Amino acid sequence: MTLAVPLATADSSTLTQAVDGCVLPPGVLTADDLPTGSSVLDCAAVGRLVTHEGVGVTVPEPGMTVGVDALAVDGSRHGFTLAVAADGTISYGLEAHAGSGERPRASAAGTAGRAACADGAYALSGHKEYGTYDWWLGDDTLPGGLTPREARRVFEQAIGTITGTRNDCGYDDVVGARAKYHSLTRREAGIDRKGHCTARDGQSVWDAGELSRELVATTCSWSRRVRGGPDWLKEADVRFNTSDYTFTNNPADDCTGAYDIRSVATHEAGHVFGLAHVGPGHENQTMFTNSFACTTGARALGRGDVLGLSALY
Ligand SMILES: [Zn+2]
Repeated sequence: MTLAVPLATADSSTLTQAVDGCVLPPGVLTADDLPTGSSVLDCAAVGRLVTHEGVGVTVPEPGMTVGVDALAVDGSRHGFTLAVAADGTISYGLEAHAGSGERPRASAAGTAGRAACADGAYALSGHKEYGTYDWWLGDDTLPGGLTPREARRVFEQAIGTITGTRNDCGYDDVVGARAKYHSLTRREAGIDRKGHCTARDGQSVWDAGELSRELVATTCSWSRRVRGGPDWLKEADVRFNTSDYTFTNNPADDCTGAYDIRSVATHEAGHVFGLAHVGPGHENQTMFTNSFACTTGARALGRGDVLGLSALY
């Protein structure tokens, strides 16, 4: 059934063209408003915000996938991916794909998880960097009061841990992709104050600022479909929540809640290069869902982190 086109609404920016019965409500959408199989073209949905359990993404153009990975204080958040096929058809990834070798398993509550080099669990988000990850540093606030020079160094170390497969488990480098820092930029990460991914601007920016209170840091990634392989990363932006959390580059013995910048950055860099979260029982992996206050353990990769990268690269 084809419904009438609503020509007059209170806000022209929410005017929605109705084709084949698709009429979107104004404001923020949910996956129920735009279910799997619906068309972003028929529904005029490109540029609209879709949320799922507290995270959200802006609908990209056909052929693109956008994903948000939020690092939460309580480990409750999961990734949310919205893919638009070349013909405009929508599909969602509400949970990460488990690694084929050793699937993440929940263990008894209260355990500290297996040792980093004895735990092979990993999960993949569906994209990878096929070439060089070009990135810029936001010229506004940076975590931990770092100068731009210091922040560049810490983030380069963190990103280099992924591209160099740095680990204490004896594994060689398995990642062929590279990364290149360019400069400070006046642009900002494509992430709004609630941690939702906005439209991409073509420049991968690492910065800091306001996010939803339960989020310590967030990564938004945009990728293009590749036939027969993981999607091709086109942009990935990272934001640290400096409005609600304290960050440090040197957690001291008297640390009482500051997050280790390099640990968080290494985890976010894992998302940039295609790793997703592993859950309870895998606390010693860099890609564990929860946060890294007063500990530097995530600066080096665990066995599962390496196996995940090895499966991708
Ligand atoms: Zn994460």
